[in-house]
Amino acid sequence: MFINNEFVDARNKRTIPIINPSTEEVICEVQGAEKEDVDLAVAAARAAFKLGSPWRTLDASKRGYLINKFASLLERDFEYLASLETLNNGKTLTDAREDVSASIAVFKYFAGWSDKVCGKTIPVDGNYFTYTRHEPVGVCGQIIPWNYPLLMLSWKIGPALACGNTVVLKPSEFTPLTALYSAQLFKEAGFPPGVVNIVPGYGQTAGAAIASHMDIDKIAMTGSTATGRKILAASAESNLKRVSLELGGKSPLIIFADCDLDFAVSCAHSGIMNNHGQNCVAASRTFVQDSIYDEFVNKSKALVARRTVGNPFDPKTQQGPLINKVQFEKVLGFIQKGKEEGASLVIGGGRAGSKGYFVEPTVFAGVKDDMTIATDEIFGPVQSIIKFSNVEEVIDRANRTRYGLAAGVITNDINKALKISQSLQAGSVWVNCYDIVTCQTPFGGFKQSGQGRELGEYALHEYTEIKTVTIQVPEKNS
Ligand code: NAD
Repeated sequence: MFINNEFVDARNKRTIPIINPSTEEVICEVQGAEKEDVDLAVAAARAAFKLGSPWRTLDASKRGYLINKFASLLERDFEYLASLETLNNGKTLTDAREDVSASIAVFKYFAGWSDKVCGKTIPVDGNYFTYTRHEPVGVCGQIIPWNYPLLMLSWKIGPALACGNTVVLKPSEFTPLTALYSAQLFKEAGFPPGVVNIVPGYGQTAGAAIASHMDIDKIAMTGSTATGRKILAASAESNLKRVSLELGGKSPLIIFADCDLDFAVSCAHSGIMNNHGQNCVAASRTFVQDSIYDEFVNKSKALVARRTVGNPFDPKTQQGPLINKVQFEKVLGFIQKGKEEGASLVIGGGRAGSKGYFVEPTVFAGVKDDMTIATDEIFGPVQSIIKFSNVEEVIDRANRTRYGLAAGVITNDINKALKISQSLQAGSVWVNCYDIVTCQTPFGGFKQSGQGRELGEYALHEYTEIKTVTIQVPEKNS
């Protein structure tokens, strides 16, 4: 683990085996942080955050310079990082390269914000001069998942550093390798010791220690809604640390009969199949208008039949393995449930190959709103195609979920697009496109999909405290 700019062992020397999901073989062992290791990392982050420290006294523009330097080191080690991500996560090398590119863009974007985080002067009543300062929150605990390991690190660390915070980040116990590799790049870029600390470890130990830590000021987490709930409770029961959460989804993509059908089929296909369905914004409820329903199902089947599954390092492969045995069994369990509850299996539905956590890309038709595959987050390559008739009905049905992360609509009618985009309870709505997430735009969920926003200018709010400073003056003039 990386604490105070040094790699150190866990105090109790316990390690975590890291598995290659394509082969089920152990790649390596990493240190498994527990409470006392988290304590050391927090102490380092706290010391780095002390008033008068090199980090606190650095010009804001220099923070941006260091973040940009770090981004340039990611660029230098681009192929290594992409390969490491593919080895550890199983996503295709093509996808891993996109993730590294996107991570670089996120760091560069937030580097630019570093010296633009401004307060205001406010014309208050009385003989006073009042201004606000946007100060860093302090020590930030950050807990990230396994589906986009490096990218999630960038979403968390980028804005935290731009605003002047210090960080204790826990990568997923399944995918810590790119986080650990980039740890040394923070040192190489010139960040002072203690500003960025990386503690690999299990959720119940290291993650829980971060969530309930009395000396962590803010926690940001991406993962399941169940874990998000625990983190919020731990904050309430410890020191009321600030909390931002990016959680699950069951996102609707609504396709109207007036669309370009081939485009809609391909958009819905990639909307659910990207990253093997292990995507919080996966278009996991495909609503298709009745008059084009059968043709849409047939075309979706044809597209899935051509999808290549296998070695993620092979440039021809479109889908690698799922992340681990638990997810593999969970996804196959959902497919079984879909069959039992009466959905019609159009294609796929089983294991692909005999080694590794590969699941066939799968399409279900005849899916009803109350079936488990239409209500629960599957997090796998399983498309559920649901029939609808009209605008009012589909809005109501699309919103009937505890989640609210994202949604999409495909139509050539601007009025339908506007009505739907206003009516859906979701943090992102895509019209005639899907899963367009950029570093400039806020991202986050309504309802049980989370709290707060990441990316864009909005992310800065999560990493700053606003202080009002009021000074008495002898006379006030306009
Ligand atoms: P998870 O929520 O358990 O794990 C996410 C992160 O939280 C990991 O770093 C984990 O170690 C940590 N964590 C787990 N328990 C914790 C606790 N008690 N306190 C603090 N941290 C804790 O997710 P998972 O088990 O890896 O996956 C389960 C399901 O979660 C998936 O099937 C999927 O539905 C969902 N998921 C969503 C996202 C997303 O991007 N929204 C990402 C991963 C998983």
